[in-house]
Amino acid sequence: MILQYASGDISAMLAHTSRNLVRDVAFSLSEGESMALIGETGSGKTMIALSIMRLLPRNVRQTGGEMLFCGAALPEGRAMRALLGTQIAYIPQNGLEFLDPSKKIRYHLYDSLKKIGIGGAERASAAAQRLEAAGFSSPQEILEQYPFQLSGGMAQRVTIALAACTRARLIIADEPTNGLDQEGRKQFMARLTSLFPQAAKLVITHDIAVAALCARMLVLCGGRTMEQGPSNRLLTTPRNPYTRALIASLVENGMAETPLLRAGESGCPFYRRCAEAEKSGCSRPQLHRCGDVEWWCRAT
Ligand code: SF4
Repeated sequence: MILQYASGDISAMLAHTSRNLVRDVAFSLSEGESMALIGETGSGKTMIALSIMRLLPRNVRQTGGEMLFCGAALPEGRAMRALLGTQIAYIPQNGLEFLDPSKKIRYHLYDSLKKIGIGGAERASAAAQRLEAAGFSSPQEILEQYPFQLSGGMAQRVTIALAACTRARLIIADEPTNGLDQEGRKQFMARLTSLFPQAAKLVITHDIAVAALCARMLVLCGGRTMEQGPSNRLLTTPRNPYTRALIASLVENGMAETPLLRAGESGCPFYRRCAEAEKSGCSRPQLHRCGDVEWWCRAT
């Protein structure tokens, strides 16, 4: 198993109070497997990714939970920094913002290759090969360019090439297809699979069409798991009303919205917008299982 993750509680410390961001989200990822963390803005998916990389903001605390990488507890501090960019690779949301505008693409790639011990004469051909694999037909030209000379899509491909400069066993891609059209999204996901066949891949997205391209998905709402399992099963027989709402929001399904239906709170983060809520039955959603699918909802 590459990653075994149990979030525990992740909370933001505010001036006079704290706010829970993620609670008891648990999943595992094995070699070669891809899983999408899907949810709307504020659902906690980015916090989960940051917690794995030990990069939570200073005012955010994680308590409880357990994170194992290849069977050992994920380290902190220097040991964690040594894993990042070598065994754990991060593909950011916005390639143009991620790359240092003052440095040529050559510098970015050479720096990454150095971390895995590729230097000297080998470095130039290794860098060009990574760019080619990321879809550039003239890698030598790209090496001489600065990030601001690239389009958003090209910068995104450079970040894939950078991830390919690691020996990553775990890839974390944070909204990697933002700004890409449908064809671009498909190409990105195909590249992720072909470039990193052995790595476990965690894809953070708000787009269920992208999540559908991963083998598994975990649906998040308000920092809680709503449903998780094989993508094809969730897409064909969604059990949780929130998963159904995400599927209904697809363009081909008419982009149905989930309006606010009621005020008040329950134990379920989807309560205010859920058309299937029962006032008396939604205070304590229960865990249900059917084969390899699990979901939280009221008792049936
Ligand atoms: S627990 Fe209730 S509010 Fe939440 S998804 Fe299920 S039916 Fe809807």
